[in-house]
Amino acid sequence: MTEFDIIIIGSGPAGMAAARTSAEGGANVLLVDEQKSPGGQIYRAILDTSEQRQSILGPDYSDGRALALALDHANITITCSATVWRVDEDAAVTYSVAGKAAQAKGRQLIIATGALERPVPVPGWTLPGVMTAGAAQILLKASGIAPERAVLAGSGPLLYLIASQLITAGFPPAALVETQSANNFIDAIKHLPGALRGWSYIVKGRDMLSQIRSAGIPRYTGAKDISISGDDAVNGLNFAAKGHRHEIPCDTILLHAGVVANTQITRSLRLDHDWDDRQLCFYPITDDWGMSSNPVIRIAGDGAGIGGAKAAVFSGQLAALGALNALEKLDVQVRDSKAAPLRANLRRETAIRPFLDTLYRPSPEFRTPADEVMICRCEEVTAGDIRGYAKLGCTGPNQAKAFGRSGMGPCQGRYCGLTVTELLAEANGLSQQETGYYRIRAPLKPITLGEIAAFAEEND
Ligand SMILES: Cc1cc2nc3c(=O)[nH]c(=O)nc-3n(C[C@H](O)[C@H](O)[C@H](O)COP(=O)(O)OP(=O)(O)OC[C@H]3O[C@@H](n4cnc5c(N)ncnc54)[C@H](O)[C@@H]3O)c2cc1C
Repeated sequence: MTEFDIIIIGSGPAGMAAARTSAEGGANVLLVDEQKSPGGQIYRAILDTSEQRQSILGPDYSDGRALALALDHANITITCSATVWRVDEDAAVTYSVAGKAAQAKGRQLIIATGALERPVPVPGWTLPGVMTAGAAQILLKASGIAPERAVLAGSGPLLYLIASQLITAGFPPAALVETQSANNFIDAIKHLPGALRGWSYIVKGRDMLSQIRSAGIPRYTGAKDISISGDDAVNGLNFAAKGHRHEIPCDTILLHAGVVANTQITRSLRLDHDWDDRQLCFYPITDDWGMSSNPVIRIAGDGAGIGGAKAAVFSGQLAALGALNALEKLDVQVRDSKAAPLRANLRRETAIRPFLDTLYRPSPEFRTPADEVMICRCEEVTAGDIRGYAKLGCTGPNQAKAFGRSGMGPCQGRYCGLTVTELLAEANGLSQQETGYYRIRAPLKPITLGEIAAFAEEND
């Protein structure tokens, strides 16, 4: 097994920044990512994208180029197209590349696996033609493919960004159907003073909304009772807004209700997690240096709590400083003096989060959907099934697996986990923290027996 001072899983802004800081501090680093090249979600394919596509994706996207180029350092080994499917408590990382499994061991491990889009389970969301807005953006970034006259539904700043990118690409959406209402705005006002410290995000939001308005795209806010119609494929989005019912004919619907920390690996390691009532998701508990409840494992970026790409960079650098200190490559004074400006930047970049999280709080109908809505797409379990399990005495997601297999399919609960927690918490009158989450086990992603066999042969 190859050994490294620091292994970093995830080459988004957090992982790339952590790698550079670690390498500069004298550590030899392995950076692993399942994408074809570094960049993560926001800077996906940044080193392979044409200038024309960069101009569509905007200046924030192009910002990622410098981070990716900075990985060119003698101490950094980059392994892309590598899916990590098992991580052990001693920082041994098992991954597969090109159909073969391999293993490496770090003296310190930084998990920077970012965020996942929150599931948006509404009636009809499993029909062909429905995908997440982030998935549409992945197609645009990685392949230059854009949907024609898509309807974007849900809430959150990423919805505006993707609408704006589609407009610039020449594929304006047919409509934006948003769930946030005046009440959300009233609730968010108390966070406005903090938000003003992140004024550049407010300016960006204003510019995107003005581009959407100028393109003549209808926007509906306060949308409720959202459902998707169609027999074999989508043919329309139905909803109520401001006392009227609407039906928008369309064949592509892009759903989005914010992003949540990707906790698959941290859960599999049984690290301590907490429920965040503002971001409405679980996150692994970390200290100021990203250290988890296991002293050799740190978490950086959105995987430790949603803060956005710039915050991810600073948290990656802080985790790297913490790891270098733990490896005795950096003394406490130098670590602390390097960390001070990073902490100030991190505070500035996250100052807007309480405002955004409150304004774009996911609609209750997405969090605890109606009985007939499919929750676990892999095993075809509905919200009504989960409520039925609660009546039979099921108190947590792990038991729900035994009751009806939810979370036991190929996605390992990534699509249904949070909804199952929320449904059981509501049905049993317990908090989400008391209800808990699925117990995640390796393999974290589907792998073939051939991959494991190839691994065994090499180890023999
Ligand atoms: C689909 C999607 C699109 C987004 N687009 C934008 C955007 O355009 N603009 C914006 O400001 N914010 C966007 N965000 C939010 C954004 O992800 C971040 O704020 C930022 O990228 C977080 O950086 P990070 O380094 O923490 O994680 P990420 O950038 O998400 O990077 C995490 C990396 O970990 C890798 N990874 C995860 N699991 C494994 C595994 N098991 N094995 C190997 N590698 C793994 C992923 O491939 C990914 O490259 C998006 C989020 C999502 C989910």
